[in-house]
Amino acid sequence: MPEPARHIVIIGGGIAGLCTGVYAQLCGYQVTILEQHAIPGGLATSWTRNGYTFETCLHWFLGSAPDGTLGRQWREVFDVDKLRFVDAEVYQRVETEDGRSLTFYSDVDRMEAELLHAAPEDAEEIMEFTSAIRRLANLPMDDLNAAWPRRTWAMLRLIPKLPLLTQWAGMSAAEYGKRFRNDLLRRFFTESATADMAAIALVLMFGWMSARNAGYAVGGAKSIIDAITQRFRALGGKLRLMAKVETILVEDDVAVGVRLSDGEIIRADWVISGADGHATIYDMLEGRYRNAAIDAFYDSQKVFPSYLQVSLGVARDLSQEPGFLARTLAKPLEIDPETSLDTVAFRIFHFDPTFAPAGKTAVTCFLPTWNYAYWQDLQRKDATAYEVEKRRIASAVIEILERRLPGVREAIEVTDVSTPASVMHFTGNWKGSMEGFLPTPGVGFRPRRQTLPGLHRFRMVGQWVQPGGGLPCGLMTARAAVRAICRRDHVAFLPDGPGRRDESMPRELFG
Ligand SMILES: Cc1cc2nc3c(=O)[nH]c(=O)nc-3n(C[C@H](O)[C@H](O)[C@H](O)COP(=O)(O)OP(=O)(O)OC[C@H]3O[C@@H](n4cnc5c(N)ncnc54)[C@H](O)[C@@H]3O)c2cc1C
Repeated sequence: MPEPARHIVIIGGGIAGLCTGVYAQLCGYQVTILEQHAIPGGLATSWTRNGYTFETCLHWFLGSAPDGTLGRQWREVFDVDKLRFVDAEVYQRVETEDGRSLTFYSDVDRMEAELLHAAPEDAEEIMEFTSAIRRLANLPMDDLNAAWPRRTWAMLRLIPKLPLLTQWAGMSAAEYGKRFRNDLLRRFFTESATADMAAIALVLMFGWMSARNAGYAVGGAKSIIDAITQRFRALGGKLRLMAKVETILVEDDVAVGVRLSDGEIIRADWVISGADGHATIYDMLEGRYRNAAIDAFYDSQKVFPSYLQVSLGVARDLSQEPGFLARTLAKPLEIDPETSLDTVAFRIFHFDPTFAPAGKTAVTCFLPTWNYAYWQDLQRKDATAYEVEKRRIASAVIEILERRLPGVREAIEVTDVSTPASVMHFTGNWKGSMEGFLPTPGVGFRPRRQTLPGLHRFRMVGQWVQPGGGLPCGLMTARAAVRAICRRDHVAFLPDGPGRRDESMPRELFG
């Protein structure tokens, strides 16, 4: 007689929770995903205002090419090839307000030629950077997550690249950028909100883009989330929206289910949290399953910033402009009492026809800040002042755009401002962080443990167990968690079909 499917409860319907749900359903589990918000997706989202769609997440999707890094793994989870990808010619154009500019092309050869032309004084450093991009473009990341023969082979292939990886992982982008004499080039590395991140992150990103394996999916992050949600439901998974988990229920150090904020109890054989890491450990589990190393990491490791986003619906065709435009300002923009920005970046979404009516363009401006507390306090304590501040920032951003595109102000028919308070409200992420832990030198992309000390039948997935975050971390941590659970339950990990019991595996009592 076939055994009844075991029930897994997943907290959070972001990319990590959804991917975990698909893998677990494929392995024969019965899955319930509990999502606090009215829509799935978490940070991978967009919103629509008066005919314009404003994307917050997707710049690039690692794995857009079927045979590139992560391509195969994404295709286990959903039909990626139904999406339409755009590979941007220009990654980013950097401009100063006094008329100088530098273009970072996605193609590494073109980028090299442009940078050498613009900054011949930095030729040696430019060549070192582009050579690293070429050599590290196709790391066998999928295979490091695979079963042992393939994993061993991937590790062997990695060995010759280890010195280069170590070199770039050991310094921050800011440290690296100081080597450049050209001020635009130097500022590109040293002034971004993620300048403390290991420089390897930039090398890898450019490598994936150059290999045309990090395209933008038309429809933005929502097109990806919708496709995974559909697959999850088609496999029989249950997604419950507006279901906020307050407590993870534990009996004799075994996670046995969750309690929702309305008091409902849902029992399960396994509990997996794809929600914010800090809230999971310190609130939902009341800090009972942690150790000094976990506390120290949460106390000291830098996280990606939170952000304000000014979104503009512009009744104008901006298709002649770069899709990603950074403006270095003559006078810094004051964001909040602790934050002023020398550079602001605009995304001009003429490359996504689904985001605005014909002849019009959705434009967003991302404004990073670590001062999430200021925005949260202001929203709670003084709603009027909060609105005034949002309007001030919107006017300042429009003024910057007007200097670049004279007359654009008159064409703006929608203005929308979100703040770190919005990020925290809609996703529950600690400090309103856009991507979890920053992969600083020393920490890099090394995954954190998915288990907590002393707690059985429990796993964590998503950006809080994989420094560096991003959509790929949702996929990779999901796959690793479900594989580990299958091993504990003696179920074969079979993403291509329903799971079956595998009696050859050693029996262990608890996960
Ligand atoms: C501006 C910006 C640009 C980005 N650009 C890119 C990019 O180009 N490429 C890329 O790959 N990545 C990008 N990212 C990063 C990427 O969006 C995130 O790292 C990723 O979506 C995180 O997924 P997650 O599932 O781990 O977490 P989340 O998306 O935070 O999902 C967690 C989910 O859990 C839910 N939840 C929280 N608490 C509870 C609770 N108590 N009960 C029930 N549900 C709960 C939340 O509502 C949320 O839906 C970007 C992010 C931002 C903000």
